Amino acid sequence: MHEVGFATTILEEVKKEAKKQNALKVTSVELVLGELTLIDSEQLIFLLNSIIQDDIIKGADFKVKKQRAEGECSCGYSGPLEYKEEFHQLLYVKCPRCDGIPKIKKGDECVIEKINMEVEERSK
Ligand SMILES: [Zn+2]
Repeated sequence: MHEVGFATTILEEVKKEAKKQNALKVTSVELVLGELTLIDSEQLIFLLNSIIQDDIIKGADFKVKKQRAEGECSCGYSGPLEYKEEFHQLLYVKCPRCDGIPKIKKGDECVIEKINMEVEERSK
């Protein structure tokens, strides 16, 4: 289950950032999840919530945005890719124009887009 690995990495990143900003509380985390990761967003959110140990992250609202698979092919095509998924196994990614194997540019990532947090009030 590679979801656990992703979830752990995300939480570590959030924690690091929260410490850096001296956050009191992380209110929400916005994630971008590439569809080629084959991770179910509901499952990822559930996992994140179940493995959180830090009080400053506990209760944070996780929002997941799906990223479509996009790439470039040697035939000159650039854009959304076709892929086949079966039983959560990626069978292939191909270029819709020539059926070739494209270079994946987007869609295989799982990244933090934004972390919203409460920080110590600064003098106005
Ligand atoms: Zn092509």
